Amino acid sequence: MRVLVIEDDLRIVSFLDKGLTAEGHSVTCATTATEAEAALDTYGDVVDLVLLDLGLPAGDGEDILRRLRRRGSTLPVIVLTARAEVADRVRGLDAGANDYLTKPFAFDELLARMRAVRRTVEAPGSNELIVGDLRLDTSTKVAWRAGRRIDLAPREWALLELFMRAPTRLFTRVHILNKVWQYDLDPGTNVVDVYVGYLRKKLNRPGLDPLIHTVRGAGYRLIEP
Ligand code: CA
Repeated sequence: MRVLVIEDDLRIVSFLDKGLTAEGHSVTCATTATEAEAALDTYGDVVDLVLLDLGLPAGDGEDILRRLRRRGSTLPVIVLTARAEVADRVRGLDAGANDYLTKPFAFDELLARMRAVRRTVEAPGSNELIVGDLRLDTSTKVAWRAGRRIDLAPREWALLELFMRAPTRLFTRVHILNKVWQYDLDPGTNVVDVYVGYLRKKLNRPGLDPLIHTVRGAGYRLIEP
């Protein structure tokens, strides 16, 4: 694929350029915010994916990303940054990044993330469940909401898959226990409520409508906003 690398650390630029070229990708590099804007103006329509550093001289990757999304571009963007704080990650994703890698990262992981991002852009295949702005890839067990990747623990995706296969259907706690845990648990256990809580936390963001609704005294259901 055609990759635009926006990064000011020349060692990383060189590492990405060599590595990605060796993998058969064609690479264009921009090392300042100004160069990045110019490259996006020139190549924005032909680039398949952008690798974006957030801390750039004379600008910020987050601003570049916000401007790109404001113009309506759906160009896949993976943010590469040393900013490991959760708040920074959330800001990057809220700005419109498809995925996020914290430096230092393994090159193989970068390649895998690039493939995953392209797959979700290119082919909503039969392995995907879609409810509103929520997608679950049942082969990779990764969910996406409003373009943001959500990594799920095994019980979380099993629970989400159950909900997504029957939107609006009411699931009792006992039914969920049987389907997702599949062994005898004390019916008085609150494990279902705990996991619904985990899922809600992962799926919800300010500005997005809640998906999983509590039906008091009965159970839960997933409703498309
Ligand atoms: Ca930087």
